[in-house]
Amino acid sequence: MNKENTVRQAGGFIIQLMPDIEDEVIEGLEKKISEISSVTAMLEHGMTPEDILEEILGKYELEITERIPVGFHCDCSKERISRALATLSRQDLENLVADGEPIEIKCHFCNKTYKFDTEELKEIQA
Ligand SMILES: [Zn+2]
Repeated sequence: MNKENTVRQAGGFIIQLMPDIEDEVIEGLEKKISEISSVTAMLEHGMTPEDILEEILGKYELEITERIPVGFHCDCSKERISRALATLSRQDLENLVADGEPIEIKCHFCNKTYKFDTEELKEIQA
């Protein structure tokens, strides 16, 4: 994190062992993982994900077979939130409409806010 509480570096890795792996490989991996610094520190030092894999798995004939881009993405939409609202009980929806106030719903995954006015709530209720 930066002083401004923004994310500077984030990373991690998962090593999945194949069936019938030899104990000596497991012990070697455990030893190596106990020796390396944190992923954040390695990224801070300019290491790429490939460098990190090489550092941990290099002596086991590491071969990179595929690269897949990652990104932060949420496929929420007003339509999806409407469908979620439609699952409220008839009574709850009636209460929301009767309040006569617009409501705000925040997506729990991406924090995007969606507003629904009384007319929209009536449509969902119908
Ligand atoms: Zn979202």
